[in-house]
Amino acid sequence: MATHTYEITVIGGGPVGMFAAFYAGLHSADVLLLESLAELGGQPGNLYPAKILYDIGGYPNISGQALITQLKTQVTHFHPSIHTATNVLAITPTPTGFTLETTTGTYTTKAVIIATGGGAFTPRKLAVDYDPALEPEHIQYFVQDLEEMRGLDVAIAGGGDSAIDWALALEPIAKSVHLIHRRNQFRGLESSVAKLQASSVTCHTPFLIDAVTAEADRINVALKEVRGDRQTSLNVDKLLVNYGFVSENKQLRQWGVALKHNAVTVNSQMATSIPGIYAIGDAVTYPGKLKLIASGFGEAPIAINEALTYLYPDRRQATHSTQLYH
Ligand SMILES: Cc1cc2nc3c(=O)[nH]c(=O)nc-3n(C[C@H](O)[C@H](O)[C@H](O)COP(=O)(O)OP(=O)(O)OC[C@H]3O[C@@H](n4cnc5c(N)ncnc54)[C@H](O)[C@@H]3O)c2cc1C
Repeated sequence: MATHTYEITVIGGGPVGMFAAFYAGLHSADVLLLESLAELGGQPGNLYPAKILYDIGGYPNISGQALITQLKTQVTHFHPSIHTATNVLAITPTPTGFTLETTTGTYTTKAVIIATGGGAFTPRKLAVDYDPALEPEHIQYFVQDLEEMRGLDVAIAGGGDSAIDWALALEPIAKSVHLIHRRNQFRGLESSVAKLQASSVTCHTPFLIDAVTAEADRINVALKEVRGDRQTSLNVDKLLVNYGFVSENKQLRQWGVALKHNAVTVNSQMATSIPGIYAIGDAVTYPGKLKLIASGFGEAPIAINEALTYLYPDRRQATHSTQLYH
């Protein structure tokens, strides 16, 4: 049961949602930021952390991950409430604002900023049937705390940058680390692949996971060679699956806001068809819309100022800060 009513709730912890939550804090709003994944970061953090961006104002060049690190520092400055691993399912108007039904509970808010980008990210699941009771003790899709793996035998499935990063980060912590990938080549940065090759991580390529079964208080991960007959198995404490993410925006269709081609239609105030709900970033469409971080950063202050004017019509909003903030 919700007990606290926030002034502004931002749905989506991608770059644009994070900047909007910060900007709302700069205007002293009581802010809640909800993100479906366990980590803030949106597309740059999850889809292209190593890519260099050249079109962010003030940064001649910056990687996706470094930009997200900066935004995380910025968004926490005014201490908004941030709930990750929280997928917003339904938005219901109430006489005083909105009720948000989420996977972790119900929240109430006076205004909503939709910053859901291309949709809620969820991890791509292992493509074999396994007992769901093995999650999360033995099969995990996120690593919250590397220390939980101390002294354990760990297998990691995946061949991209973050699978390699997990393997290298766990090498000095875990008892043993196995990396399973369906190709002989890894898709990571050359420097990371070189570190991997020089590490004690055991690479199993080209292998696919064929089955995962419980064995005493551990798991047995059966591996099958891709286009070959070799079979092997690993007896480990944990299997970390890092197959990337899928995004899903079917919830948007149930939130009642007007859409065009699966994007929220907004006017020049970033207002949707429902008073009190604004939308920004990749989630929106309007004539001339560009799906760029810089455009979303411009839309965020418009939406926040409009939301505050909607909530407090008699209050004059300052356009920018006039002194140093602390
Ligand atoms: C490969 C690639 C390269 C790119 N390169 C550039 C570039 O060089 N420069 C540039 O400006 N742009 C680039 N972009 C585009 C840029 O990443 C997007 O414009 C930007 O990420 C949009 O930010 P956003 O916050 O609106 O959405 P997103 O980054 O998509 O973040 C949305 C967040 O909302 C969360 N969410 C969604 N639904 C829910 C829900 N129901 N409940 C809770 N949380 C939810 C998602 O999990 C996600 O974290 C690139 C995109 C890709 C794919």
